[in-house]
Amino acid sequence: MKLCTKCNRQKEISAFSYDRSKKDGFCCWCRDCKSKCHRIYRELYSEKIKARSRIYYTTHCDKISIKRKNHYNAHIEQKRAKAKELYKLHPERFKRARDKWTKENPNKARCAVRRWTIANSKRIKQNRENWQRANPQKASQYSKKWRLANPEKVVATVEQYRARKMMAPGTGITERQWKKLMKKYSYLCIYCGQKKKLTIDHVIPLSRGGRHDIDNIVPACRPCNSSKQAKPLRVWLLRGSNAEKFLVPGQSNIELSMGARDNV
Ligand SMILES: [Zn+2]
Ligand SMILES: [Zn+2]
Repeated sequence: MKLCTKCNRQKEISAFSYDRSKKDGFCCWCRDCKSKCHRIYRELYSEKIKARSRIYYTTHCDKISIKRKNHYNAHIEQKRAKAKELYKLHPERFKRARDKWTKENPNKARCAVRRWTIANSKRIKQNRENWQRANPQKASQYSKKWRLANPEKVVATVEQYRARKMMAPGTGITERQWKKLMKKYSYLCIYCGQKKKLTIDHVIPLSRGGRHDIDNIVPACRPCNSSKQAKPLRVWLLRGSNAEKFLVPGQSNIELSMGARDNV
C-alpha cells in the first residue's frame, strides 16, 4: 500500500504509475489524481497546448511522418483489422470524412485513385473477369451499353489492338485525338466526303509498314476503308471510277490530305 499525497488515501501500489526519479520508483500521486490533474490542465490551457503542438508538428513534420509510417508498417495487420472493425461500426462516419477530404483535395484524390488502380490492376482485372463469368447476361448488356455510349473509345481501342497485333510502330491514337481529328474533317469521310459512320484509316496501311500514329490516320467511312484496304493511296485513288469520284476539287477532303502527304 502507498499513500497518495494528493487525495490522502492509501491505495494499492498498482494504482500508482512508475516514476524512476522517486526513491520507491512510483509517483507520489495516484493514477486517478494524476489523470484528473492532467484533464484540468488540458481544459485550462487547451489553446496553448494546441499552439505548441502545432509548432512542434511544423518543425518536426518529416520526423513525425517517418515515425508514423514505421509504426503503421510495424503494426499493419492490427491497424487494418481495427480500421475494418471501426468501418463496420460507423460506415457513415468514414464515408462523410472521405467525401469531405475528396472535396477539399480533388487533385490528390484523383492521383490516389490512379495510384491505387495501377497498384491493383491485376486484382481489378481478376475481379472483373470473375464477375463477368458469374453474370454473363448482365455483362453483355453492360458492355453493349458502354460501347454505344463510347463509340470513339471503341474505335480507338480496336485499332490499338490491331496495331499491337501487327506490331506496327507508332504511339497510337487516344479517344480524344480521334474525336479532334473527326472534328477537323467536319465528321466527313476524307475520301468520299459523305457523312457516314467513321472508321480509322491508315493512309500508309499498317501492312505496308505504316505507323499507328495520328500523322498516318484519317477518318474514312467503312465502304471507302474496305475498298482501299492495303492498297497505296494513289494506286487506289487512280483506279477506275475512284479517280473521277475523288480527284474533283472541292468534292472531298482528299486534296487537303494529299497536300499534307505528298510522299504517299
Ligand atoms: Zn490520489
Ligand atoms: Zn467514304
